[in-house]
Amino acid sequence: MTGVRKCAHSGARKGRSMAKVKRPRRRQVHPVRSCAWCTHPVYGDAVTVTFPDKVQLTFHVACLDQYRAVMWPWAAR
Ligand SMILES: [Zn+2]
Repeated sequence: MTGVRKCAHSGARKGRSMAKVKRPRRRQVHPVRSCAWCTHPVYGDAVTVTFPDKVQLTFHVACLDQYRAVMWPWAAR
């Protein structure tokens, strides 16, 4: 008897705690990424480059220019 009650009780508690778990907010603050060039956090204006191998890098707008000049000299001009 007691065991059954205990079991039901813990089950109810579990259900309650699970019901409490909500996603914080749909509108999450955009995660701050680090610039792949200067490693400073990128707020606001950012350029995300997706490479053919599915790697995504985030740059400041200005840093992307530098990156391109160094890494893609053929494309920079
Ligand atoms: Zn940067």
